[in-house]
Amino acid sequence: MKRPSPRVVTALVVGALAIVALTVDLPSPRSAAPFAKVGADSAMAAVPAAPAWHERSDTLHAGETLSGLLARGGIGSEGIVHVLRAATGLDARRARAGMPVSLRTFGDDSVPSEVVFHLAIDRLIRVSRSGDSIWTGAEETLPWHVDTLTASGTVHANLYQALDDSASELLPANARAELAWSLGDIYEYKADMSRDLRDGDHFEVLFERKEGPGGIVRIGDVLAVRFALSGKEVDAVRYEASSGRAEYFDADGHSMRSAFLRAPLSFRRISSVFGRRKHPILGTWRSHKGTDYAANSGTPVRAIGDGIVIFAGKKGGYGNAIDIRHPNGYVTRYGHMRGFAKGIHSGTRVSIGQTIGYVGMTGLATGPHLHFEVIVNGVQRDPRAALRDKAGLPIPAAEKARFDTMRVTLLAQLDARIQVGSQRMASR
Ligand SMILES: [Zn+2]
Repeated sequence: MKRPSPRVVTALVVGALAIVALTVDLPSPRSAAPFAKVGADSAMAAVPAAPAWHERSDTLHAGETLSGLLARGGIGSEGIVHVLRAATGLDARRARAGMPVSLRTFGDDSVPSEVVFHLAIDRLIRVSRSGDSIWTGAEETLPWHVDTLTASGTVHANLYQALDDSASELLPANARAELAWSLGDIYEYKADMSRDLRDGDHFEVLFERKEGPGGIVRIGDVLAVRFALSGKEVDAVRYEASSGRAEYFDADGHSMRSAFLRAPLSFRRISSVFGRRKHPILGTWRSHKGTDYAANSGTPVRAIGDGIVIFAGKKGGYGNAIDIRHPNGYVTRYGHMRGFAKGIHSGTRVSIGQTIGYVGMTGLATGPHLHFEVIVNGVQRDPRAALRDKAGLPIPAAEKARFDTMRVTLLAQLDARIQVGSQRMASR
């Protein structure tokens, strides 16, 4: 004999409360009508107005405790203990400032009957009172609706512009930026999306659009991409290995990752106003053989590959600079930094993507930016050339067959949808 799990019981209790709430929450159109319109002798006059729920929205202030918030909402000290005890899953000490909390009070009651802690847009804890002091709580996950969609774009200025031009009907602005960032992440070992794109570069992408509570739209997984990067086609397919870990591979089954990131700043950190062609003038430093990245002061700077810090300190016009020697002998240099990340000094071993410092304008710099160099055999080289074509590792043989099936399926799905989309465009 199996007893119902506490979760089921909680769900039933919450369900029952929800039904009660719904029943009384919906005022009938008649009782809501202005009384004066109904004749005094009408039978309607005898119908009492249904008591209503009053909802009060509050937020946890900085430095405030949850107890303080609940007290402000009209719950006594004993009740507060019960509410917080019932709100399992809510760590009172770690509740973040700004968390919305709603308190619902029934009719003329002086004490709320329900407290909802909004942990995230899709997650809440609802604590409800039955009787005078019995509080029960349950965590609820609000559903997201997931669609698989395609978008395509042609670059004239930058990735943002390409998506603004083509996907404005499909995605709100925040989601278009998110999709651009996802593409930047997938290709961050192949291209520096802030400066490697050429006019006319074109992409097609198969991705998940998640629509959440309140109509919020987010980008889920990007499943497949066809991208003509500087004129060269580089496809990327998301593959979830048998281990459950997901990674992107190109059409030949080579990992999209390699020994070096193509840029020392994440694409999502670079101000979108600086496009493919327009780079700000950052001064007239004469020995200028590197790449400048305009970014806000304080933007994290990352090591583009594994290596050892061989210099960290002040270096003339470079200001606060770091040199890293990589296993293949390349040295990368990062200059004008405001400061270094904790623990970074000469001799520190760093890994790819690790934050080593923060953008600033020390040394000869007229505005906040990162100066970046790749030095090969003691000579400064164009990073674009030096870091080109470092192919990733092939997918493990044991995964190859499964990957091939997935690749064919996803790319076919992408191509078919793009074709349907362009036919639809043509028939407009
Ligand atoms: Zn520079």
